[in-house]
Amino acid sequence: MLDKVIFGPAGKPIDFKGKAFESSEYLNEHGLHAFEYQSTYGVKIGETSAKILKEESKKENVLVSMHGPYYINLASKEEEKIDSSIERLIQSAKAGEWMGAYRIVFHPGFYSNRKKEKVLEIANSTIKKLLNRCEEEGLYDFTFAPETTGKRSQLGNLDEIISMCETFDHFEPTIDFAHIHARGRGILNTKEDYNCIFSKLENNLDIDRLHCHFTTIEYTHAGERKHHTLAEENEYGPHIKDLLLNLIENDWKATIICETPLIDQDAVRMRELYESLK
Ligand SMILES: [Zn+2]
Repeated sequence: MLDKVIFGPAGKPIDFKGKAFESSEYLNEHGLHAFEYQSTYGVKIGETSAKILKEESKKENVLVSMHGPYYINLASKEEEKIDSSIERLIQSAKAGEWMGAYRIVFHPGFYSNRKKEKVLEIANSTIKKLLNRCEEEGLYDFTFAPETTGKRSQLGNLDEIISMCETFDHFEPTIDFAHIHARGRGILNTKEDYNCIFSKLENNLDIDRLHCHFTTIEYTHAGERKHHTLAEENEYGPHIKDLLLNLIENDWKATIICETPLIDQDAVRMRELYESLK
C-alpha cells in the first residue's frame, strides 16, 4: 500500500553509489516511495536492467515513472522529426513496460511561431499515429504523461495538456507546478492559488493518482530559467507547503517527483513536511 502522497527524486539519489536502476532499496530506506527514471538524453537502459528495477521497486514499495527524451516534438514542422519523436516514444514505452513505469513523462513540443490551436491539432494527429504504432508493436501496458511545460514557446499549458489527456486513451497528465508558476510569471503564491488547477483537472479528467513535478524555480518573461533548492524558497516560489496543504485538504492521491538540484534530499524534506501537516 502506498501513502496518499508519495515523494521521490527525478533521477538517481545524489549520494547513492550504485546504478540508477538499483536504487529502490536506498529510496525505501529514506522514506521515498517514488522514483522517476531519467531517459532525458535518450533511452539507453536495456531489458535486463529495466527488469531489475521493476522487481526491486515492487519489493521496496517504490512507484516507478520514466522521463522520456527531451528531443521530442509532436508538432515539428519537419516530418522526419515527427517520425523520430514517435520512435523515441515507442522506445520509451517499451523500456517503460520492462521497468513497470506507471507513467512515461515527456514534453510535447514547440509552437514555433504558429497559432496554438493549429499546433495542438498537429500534435493530436501525431498522437494518433503514435497510438497506432504502439498497437503494431504489441504494446498495451503504457501511460504517456505529457507535462505542463515551463516556457511560453512550448506546447503544454495546462489546458493543452488536459485536452490531450481528454482526447486520448493511454494519456494522463504530468503537472509540473514550477512550470505553471514560471509560465504564469509567478502565479502560485498561496494555498488557494492551486484550486484553479485542481478544479480544472477534476472537471475534465478522471485521475486516480496525480503525477506531479515540483521544484523551486527562477523565471524570466519567457518562462523558466533555473531550478533552485527548497532552502531557497524565500527568494523563489512556488512553496511546497501550499501545495501539500491543498492536496491534503482535497484528499488527492499524488506522486511528487522532486526536481530541485537536491533531488532526493529535498524529496525527504518534502515528505517530512507532509508528515507534519497531515
Ligand atoms: Zn518537470
